[in-house]
Amino acid sequence: MTVTLKKPNTDPSGGSSTSASDVSRIVRGVIDDIRQNGDKAVRAYSEKFDKWSPKSFKLSRNDIDRIISKVPKQVLEDIKTVQDNVRTFALEQRKSITDFEYEIRPGVHLGQKNIPINAVGAYIPGGRYPLLASAHMTIVTAKAAGVKRVIACTPPILGEIPPSTVAAIHLAGADDIYILGGVQAVAAMAIGTETIDKIDFIAGPGNPFVAEAKRQLFGEIGIDLPAGPTEVLIVADQAADPVVVATDLLSQAEHGPDTPAVLITNSRKVAEKTITEVNRLLKVLPTAGLASVSWDRFGEVHVVENLAEAYQMADTYASEHVQILTANPREALEKMSNYGALFLGEKTCVSYGDKCIGTNHVLPTKGAARYTGGLWVGKYLKTVTYQEVTSEQASGELGRLCGRAARAEGFEGHARSGDIRARNYLNDTCDW
Ligand code: NAD
Repeated sequence: MTVTLKKPNTDPSGGSSTSASDVSRIVRGVIDDIRQNGDKAVRAYSEKFDKWSPKSFKLSRNDIDRIISKVPKQVLEDIKTVQDNVRTFALEQRKSITDFEYEIRPGVHLGQKNIPINAVGAYIPGGRYPLLASAHMTIVTAKAAGVKRVIACTPPILGEIPPSTVAAIHLAGADDIYILGGVQAVAAMAIGTETIDKIDFIAGPGNPFVAEAKRQLFGEIGIDLPAGPTEVLIVADQAADPVVVATDLLSQAEHGPDTPAVLITNSRKVAEKTITEVNRLLKVLPTAGLASVSWDRFGEVHVVENLAEAYQMADTYASEHVQILTANPREALEKMSNYGALFLGEKTCVSYGDKCIGTNHVLPTKGAARYTGGLWVGKYLKTVTYQEVTSEQASGELGRLCGRAARAEGFEGHARSGDIRARNYLNDTCDW
């Protein structure tokens, strides 16, 4: 039997976030306006939501050099090291994606090719924190996939350009950088304006407004995946250290006011001690203002009978990040199937994935892990096919098959494309 020691506070007045339907309505309005009024509307929304209206949203090369000169050396070194980790893993992933051609029967050649998307817009979030790691994840990975043109948008933070984010975007290899945030950035890149080129695909995480903008624009452009407010779920057994569990739950809860942080354990003692630790840490964590809102609204602690139940329950959440703090963490690789990224054992943690280890931190949220993984080189590639029939015999036989298959569906035009080849190569008669 599952015992729930901490439930989410579902009281709608208990949090500060705008409702999903309000977000959807606001986003639709902004997109429609930008579609009609281009740059003028982009500037108006940047002023309204970010109090940001510079002469140009695009940074010149001089601007970039001047901004980067303010970034401490160690920060620049660390950016390079992390980007190297991300690039190394992405290039290794690229090797696993293969082009091939196969002769499925004599003279019938079918092939598959992976072609990089031409132009990508990377959204690097930053309303609250300079999320420079998102630059590594989106831009380095796009370049590793072979994308020719990558433009990047990131918001100002309290009216200031975030220098370390600009450094990360530039070092990652972006071709153009715009200091522009939220829906106005996503819509400008997707629709194109007088000063911002239209791209083919948008990648990158963001708050509910950014995630909803990508969702609404999908189809007109491609998107990587639904990557909204972050989530963490920890599976722990009696061996887990409650201080570590509590620290790691709050490491994600500090992202914003809408971060689910869930503990599932087979140990009542670990569950109770973790709750005590979370409450203690919330008194001393400098970012407790955001973390405590998330913990109150979306924190959950469940005690289950055994680990099998824990894995099953975790799979139903399909959480973005799943951390396994048990005696045999690798067992989760076999037992679980719904997660954005798995963190195995106490020596690793979600923060490593978020900031530096090299796997991609742009990951599915709100249950999207049931049907997609996170951002990776493959998301920037179009897997296309081609075919060539090199034998007359094979083409004629396919023509007969095509004629019958198409007529079964009532497609006379398709059927005749087959008939004519059966006539040309196998001397069939055509009665049309
Ligand atoms: P953000 O860049 O996503 O959003 C900031 C922008 O939101 C601002 O520029 C502003 O234009 C817009 N905005 C704010 N309030 C608005 C309103 N009321 N109406 C319309 N627009 C509004 O930065 P953020 O807010 O700090 O959020 C970053 C998010 O990214 C967090 O939720 C974090 O959890 C998430 N994240 C997710 C992943 C993932 O892979 N799923 C990874 C990293 C970060």
